[in-house]
Amino acid sequence: MIISIASGKGGTGKTTISTNLAFSLVQSGRNVQLLDCDVEEPNAHIFLDLENKIKENVFLPVPQIDEEKCTLCGKCAEVCVYNALFIAKDRVMFFPQLCHSCGGCSYFCPREAISEIDRVIGEIGAGDACLTRGSTYGIEFAYGKLNIGEVMAPPLMRKLKKRIDEDKVVIIDAPPGTSCPMIEAVKGSDFCFLITEPTPFGLNDLKLAVETLKVLKIPFAVLINRWNEEYFEVDSYCEKENISIAMRIPLERKIAELYSRGILFSKELPEWQKAFCKLFDFIEALRK
Ligand code: SF4
Ligand code: SF4
Repeated sequence: MIISIASGKGGTGKTTISTNLAFSLVQSGRNVQLLDCDVEEPNAHIFLDLENKIKENVFLPVPQIDEEKCTLCGKCAEVCVYNALFIAKDRVMFFPQLCHSCGGCSYFCPREAISEIDRVIGEIGAGDACLTRGSTYGIEFAYGKLNIGEVMAPPLMRKLKKRIDEDKVVIIDAPPGTSCPMIEAVKGSDFCFLITEPTPFGLNDLKLAVETLKVLKIPFAVLINRWNEEYFEVDSYCEKENISIAMRIPLERKIAELYSRGILFSKELPEWQKAFCKLFDFIEALRK
């Protein structure tokens, strides 16, 4: 089963939920794989001490122009809908960050002046999440990390998602927002938990995320992080839209303290492990 953890807004606690859910499910005897697809700012590893770490670079094929063969005809710039090529007075200028590696320019170049070379856009890391060195949680963990200045998150995420092992419970920590990277992360999920916080900003971004998941036809429920009794608009919205609220994590000093020290709160407060396992039961009940 693939469960994605998403939110319309950054800083709502997606990673807290992903890591605590993964840890709690492992404690209940399930095989769990956690993929941090928030490739612009992966931070699940902060809560998971990793063993047996491996890293591999992720490349994208980009054009390389042979100036000896090029006649500056302009065909490549014409076919490039991403404006990654520009015909200057004496050469073809290439803007790698804009290139989507579609291969159109090399296909249409009448002089066969364009070949493809690999450009590193980021890396994928993987390892086993451990409690302390030598004592594994048993979570198979992998993350993607986009190089600074790169904008092409989806190819890196696709590469990361190739690691999905469907024999396990797969938890995907998706990037915040509702644009391409979030969609790429949640695509193919069996269920999505949308994390929000009880504020007007949280509610606004939740509504956008809800609309996105409806279009993608992914079943979902809401989790309210830092819940308090002063702001009920999220509850009212969910009730009106017939959306289940699967969990409320209260705004509690102890939880915040553990978070700030990079400690999974369900490890220190075991009563929460049951609550996180109930999220899994919640999905299973809906699927029956
Ligand atoms: S299409 Fe080929 S020959 Fe024409 S400008 Fe581009 S690289 Fe040069
Ligand atoms: S590979 Fe595609 S996106 Fe990249 S420069 Fe060529 S035409 Fe443009």
